[in-house]
Amino acid sequence: MIVAIYPGSFDPITNGHIDVATRAARLFARLIIGVYDTPEKRLLFTLEERVELVKQAVAHLDNVEVKPFSGLTVDFARKVEAQVTVRGLRVSADFEHEFDMAMMNRRLGPKLELVCLMARPEYQFLSSSLLKEVARLGGSIKNLVPEHVAQALKEKEG
Ligand code: ADP
Repeated sequence: MIVAIYPGSFDPITNGHIDVATRAARLFARLIIGVYDTPEKRLLFTLEERVELVKQAVAHLDNVEVKPFSGLTVDFARKVEAQVTVRGLRVSADFEHEFDMAMMNRRLGPKLELVCLMARPEYQFLSSSLLKEVARLGGSIKNLVPEHVAQALKEKEG
């Protein structure tokens, strides 16, 4: 039984993330979405809010759980007994970043495998940071996030 983690900051979760989670849930017996506690980013949503938004977004997927975590991804994987890390890849810039991280994680946890899923074409351009900017400036985010996330963004910005 292969258990996978899908780590990220999910600030907030988008349809791009949900697509990766849905596809990964078909590949692995269990998928645990790990929400980073303190990434090196300016965050709009608190950890609790991000976890809650992710939970609602994947409630329909039976073999998917959501957990907050802090510290190294390899330590989180060890704790939940996962053998695989899942990441999404959009443009080539994602690849360079993922490659560096994968090399470091291989040193830290040699047994943890990395599986990257290519983003669907319609989500190639979609990032949480761009989404937040468009939402803040009043642009349409239709079809980019689930309704509850659009609502949460509206409440934050409003
Ligand atoms: P991080 O802070 O680790 O980059 P993110 O929450 O931004 O966390 O993203 C988590 C993972 O989801 C990363 O592997 C990222 O490349 C991937 N991802 C982000 N947006 C998309 C998207 N639109 N389609 C597919 N994968 C995505």
